[in-house]
Amino acid sequence: MISEKNWAQELAKSLISLNQLSEKAMICESEVTELQKVKDTFDIRVPQLFIEDIIQGNTALAKQFIPSKNEIIFLPEELEDPIGDARWTPVEGIVHRYPDRVLFKPTYLCGVYCRFCFRRNKVSDASHNLKSENAKTAINYIKDHSEIWEVILTGGDPLVMTDKVLQEILSEIAAIDHVKVIRFHSRIPSVLPSRITNSLIQLLKSTNKSIWIAAHMNSADEFTPEAKIALAKLIDNGIPVLLQSVLLKEINDTHETLVSLFKVAIENRVKPYYIHYPDLAKGTEQFRIPLKKAIELVKGLRGTISGLCIPHFIIDIPGGSGKIAINTHTAKECKNNTWEFESPLDGTIITVQYPHGDEHSETFR
Ligand SMILES: *Cc1c(COP(=O)(O)O)cnc(C)c1O
Ligand code: SF4
Repeated sequence: MISEKNWAQELAKSLISLNQLSEKAMICESEVTELQKVKDTFDIRVPQLFIEDIIQGNTALAKQFIPSKNEIIFLPEELEDPIGDARWTPVEGIVHRYPDRVLFKPTYLCGVYCRFCFRRNKVSDASHNLKSENAKTAINYIKDHSEIWEVILTGGDPLVMTDKVLQEILSEIAAIDHVKVIRFHSRIPSVLPSRITNSLIQLLKSTNKSIWIAAHMNSADEFTPEAKIALAKLIDNGIPVLLQSVLLKEINDTHETLVSLFKVAIENRVKPYYIHYPDLAKGTEQFRIPLKKAIELVKGLRGTISGLCIPHFIIDIPGGSGKIAINTHTAKECKNNTWEFESPLDGTIITVQYPHGDEHSETFR
């Protein structure tokens, strides 16, 4: 058997200091001091796998992971807890905003630190990680709430935890009858594909629950040969993988970049699930395009590319009010039963009448 690459060693080779970035010419020498305050506020981690591409001038990767001075410009609209996790946290480590599912956040560490991260005020700080007595309380919360059908492991990135810790968590959750689904939200399949080891696969397969992975990737270039192998390994072993992306200025904000991202996902059997408008996290203005333009971009996908490739466009309303899927082709009722639709092919307005049984309810009765 081919021996597996040691993922912990690979993780240790990621770039975490300004000096390392300067040595690789990812930032200029003068920026080592200029960006110190940014680094003190938001940690850096550039995965080893992307170093060469960034050096070669891949701006979609550089903009996501290389710090910039704009990150410490905070706008009044920008929040430490942009989607209101705290409001829905009954016990530490759990976010219970929707009736049938909870977020479970055992760790705040990640395989990379994205400059636009919506939990950037917490990630990378291990002091926020769940202590074992709090993990017990969190598991008990799930046990005590029989309406919880799905547990979503997130953070941070749950797949940076060792197999041993994951095993403990999974076996605790597996023992709860009313939980039927366990979903991981992770950037690991693309930023640290060596983490998708055979033993991890065995561990995921060994639970009696339906396991899903939502993999976070924002550009087609993140589907490296290594990532493709890791994704195929998951899928071949019966673990479905979804794509979760963020719509980011100058990274994937054109029709062409979105089409290539979603097409390469489907070609690798990964289903585009959500594309998020960037949350109002601190210092992230540089990543937002006007919402109106964002809606037009997503609207332009329908009718152009295969429906398999099209995700929902999501905004998570600040303050914890929840996610909304923005309807880019809204149907409008113009008279009773007569509706107007905008053609996804050429934008013309088409009027359609849809008679339905309820109109004749008097006659039918
Ligand atoms: C995003 C989120 C979920 C998952 O929502 P889905 O629409 O099921 O993907 C669940 N709970 C919280 C608190 C969330 O923010
Ligand atoms: S991997 Fe996810 S949680 Fe971690 S920094 Fe990136 S966006 Fe944030």
